[in-house]
Amino acid sequence: MDVAVIGAGAAGLVAARELIRSGHTVTIFERNHRVGGIWVYASETEADPLGQNGARIHGSLYHSLRTNLPRDLMAFSDYAFDSSGGGDDAWPRFPGHAEVLRYIENFAHSFGLYGCIRFGEQVESIEPGTGWTVTSIAAGMRRHSHFDAVTVCNGHYSEPRVPALAGLSEWPGQLIHSHNYREPSPFQGKRVAVLGASASAVDLSMEIGRIAAALYWCTPAFATLPDAARSNSFFQRRQNIEALQADGTIVLQDGAVLDGVEVLVFCTGYHYRFPFLDPALVNVDDNWVSPLYRDLLHVDHPTLAFIGLPFKVVPFPLFEVQARWFARLLAGDFHLPPAEQRAGEAAARVMALRADGVAQRHFHRRQLDCYDYLDTLAEESRAPRLPEWHRQTTAALLSHVAVHPGSYRDLPFAVYAPTRLQPDPPSALQ
Ligand code: FAD
Repeated sequence: MDVAVIGAGAAGLVAARELIRSGHTVTIFERNHRVGGIWVYASETEADPLGQNGARIHGSLYHSLRTNLPRDLMAFSDYAFDSSGGGDDAWPRFPGHAEVLRYIENFAHSFGLYGCIRFGEQVESIEPGTGWTVTSIAAGMRRHSHFDAVTVCNGHYSEPRVPALAGLSEWPGQLIHSHNYREPSPFQGKRVAVLGASASAVDLSMEIGRIAAALYWCTPAFATLPDAARSNSFFQRRQNIEALQADGTIVLQDGAVLDGVEVLVFCTGYHYRFPFLDPALVNVDDNWVSPLYRDLLHVDHPTLAFIGLPFKVVPFPLFEVQARWFARLLAGDFHLPPAEQRAGEAAARVMALRADGVAQRHFHRRQLDCYDYLDTLAEESRAPRLPEWHRQTTAALLSHVAVHPGSYRDLPFAVYAPTRLQPDPPSALQ
């Protein structure tokens, strides 16, 4: 089949490789001029620090960013993130963004993917008909191309999500989303609040907390205080934010009030966005993308797939397993249940999530069942499951991060890979 892939980030590249392996012909549309997607560090930021006027800058990385997964868990299955694959053994176990980009570029080279990428070409619309018509624009020229199937890999860490806090528009302080944070110097000597519970919230709190006059990390009670922060008297963990007030105060969910905060940093995640798809075809409502079967395939159009929507997962291996499933589906290696059954399964999953009280914006969170989900896809597509060490290493990582949330990257961390059971290289311990 002729398959279009939208995006040459990690998801699009591994999707292309899996599609090619299954005998398909692939065209990758990439609006940037290089591969890597989110891992291409962008020093520029949006004019609107909250990024609410339609994000134009794809990158959301901060300068100091290191991965929150060991590189062993980020590697594609047959392309190790060390010298036996596309990496370097001297890289830290939790590498920086430049090393991840290098790994992705090496991957694209090694599998000959550069030849099928149309760089600088932005997809404007994808329309169903007999197959799919992809309309794209490059250097001011619009063109229409026809494909049998489409794989959407446009990423979902560029469109900042800001919760609708009461009083947001009246609050007189400075507001910024982590999408627009690059480094801490603008916060020197300021009183700063950081809202969020994610890895970015911890990283930014730690980094800004070192030079701010005060740092309030506003987060749900379950979040653990980073070890280094315990000895920093300027760093305070506080409850989530309830409301902002026109007099500059911040009301917390436990009723406490913060006074004198000058900057509020939102580490509150991102929206899914598919500006090239008709909302009647693919709807995004409070970060729930529907109608999808297995968080992956359009229920009514089984030649349209979305790679990488689930979050709180092991992203690169997930991209690969999903992509292999789709590639093999298109090749006729296995068959889907009938459309009504697919729709029924999708509806049943949503009912179960609602019954469990899961917020709609978390419907694609696969934190607890990530490996079961991947095993199901692997079995259906007659592909090997991820090896058992993967689960073991992920479980060990979660405990490691829970105990050392601010310093886990620099403490020794064993990986359970049978062939790579090794201590961290010395550079990671410095
Ligand atoms: P992207 O990398 O965003 O790639 C999408 C590509 O699509 C881009 O190149 C873009 O230019 C292109 N594109 C978009 N729209 C169009 C269009 N209309 N036409 C043509 N091209 C288009 N993951 C980890 O595994 N480990 C980590 O430690 C980690 N840390 C992270 C830290 C931060 C701050 C963020 C934001 C994310 C982090 N992630 C991490 C998640 C990371 O986003 C994924 O790992 C992964 O790289 C996403 O790949 P992707 O291909 O889905 O999307």
